[in-house]
Amino acid sequence: MYTAFQNHIANQLKEIEEAGLNKKERIIISPQGAEIELDTGQKVLNFCANNYLGLSNNPDLIEAAGKALGDYGYGMSSVRFICGTTDLHKKLERKIANFFSTEDTILYAACFDANGGVFEPLLTSEDAIISDALNHASIIDGVRLCKAHRYRYENADMEDLEAQLQLAQEQRFRLIVTDGVFSMDGNVAPLKKIVELANLYNAMVMVDESHSAGVVGESGRGVTELFNIMGQVEIITGTLGKAFGGAIGGFTTGKKEIIELLRQRSRPYLFSNSIPPMVAAAGIKMVDMMIGTNVLQDKLHRNAEYFISRMTNLGFDIKPTKSAICAVMLYDAKLSQEFAARLLREGIYVIGFYYPVVPKGEARIRVQLSAAHEKEHLDKAIKAFEKIGKELRVLK
Ligand SMILES: *Cc1c(COP(=O)(O)O)cnc(C)c1O
Repeated sequence: MYTAFQNHIANQLKEIEEAGLNKKERIIISPQGAEIELDTGQKVLNFCANNYLGLSNNPDLIEAAGKALGDYGYGMSSVRFICGTTDLHKKLERKIANFFSTEDTILYAACFDANGGVFEPLLTSEDAIISDALNHASIIDGVRLCKAHRYRYENADMEDLEAQLQLAQEQRFRLIVTDGVFSMDGNVAPLKKIVELANLYNAMVMVDESHSAGVVGESGRGVTELFNIMGQVEIITGTLGKAFGGAIGGFTTGKKEIIELLRQRSRPYLFSNSIPPMVAAAGIKMVDMMIGTNVLQDKLHRNAEYFISRMTNLGFDIKPTKSAICAVMLYDAKLSQEFAARLLREGIYVIGFYYPVVPKGEARIRVQLSAAHEKEHLDKAIKAFEKIGKELRVLK
């Protein structure tokens, strides 16, 4: 039996390789940061991590995690509702709710699980989910696990959303779901308009703030802060694995009845392990830092503005962005790979994306800015982009 299956898999792997879609891991032998060391010995500036606030290697978070490691030990060996909840987990849940001006929070092992476990307990075949076409894979999978009717609208297209909401009037309850920031373009969901349409068409709203929490909005409270509608969406999901420290963990925060039902019924919560106490402790420290000062958020915003304005002035074609994601458009798949490879030789680590990750003919290099970047890091990257841009005739 296995021989036939082995050939079947080997053929698929070959197809992936031949299509040039093979993903290889680059091996890092240093902490995550602005500068990382690879196992080849090369030191590179990192412009492709989700380490937006530079917290992945933050001394205060390490100290908080280390203390909890001593006080609470390594792991919980349990799901939350059996014996996997410490006071740290509860404290972090309250802190996250305070941060987003919501009523309650439930932690998960990852945001993938938060999204995977949010729809099925709340909605049935009588209801409707209206989802942005570019929503994250975990939202798509979560929706698949739920029996609600599915409607899809084109990315951030409010006319299309309105049309879908009209179609969805047949169902009992309606939930609009969107990413806060879309990871390939860096564009922000037009959440104010979405909430207006939700009010008009009697729908609820869920936003996944994974790429926007800590990044978007003056104090990093995400897209609801940017549009001044904090507390006005029913459900927010997010990750502790990006701006919020970068370790592991996810959450759903929102209306208290919703969170309570998730505690009763959400399968990734009921059937998967608790995050380790050290991660919860570092999470508490992280939220305290974010509430106490905007130093990191301000630095990130300054870095993003500086980088984008310099790159635009050089003549690069940059997708409009309100996040820390900057898509440098090259349009040609091969060019994007060559450009990224040459940048790596210059010590700048970025990723070139092309179809099917982005639409055909929209190949690009995605740059992710961080509060960990100093001005000299940005200048080095900009200089390298200019050099390669001229070599490859992207710039005149
Ligand atoms: C990264 C990401 C996730 C997954 O988060 P994890 O905590 O790593 O599982 C979910 N949704 C969006 C929009 C993301 O960008």
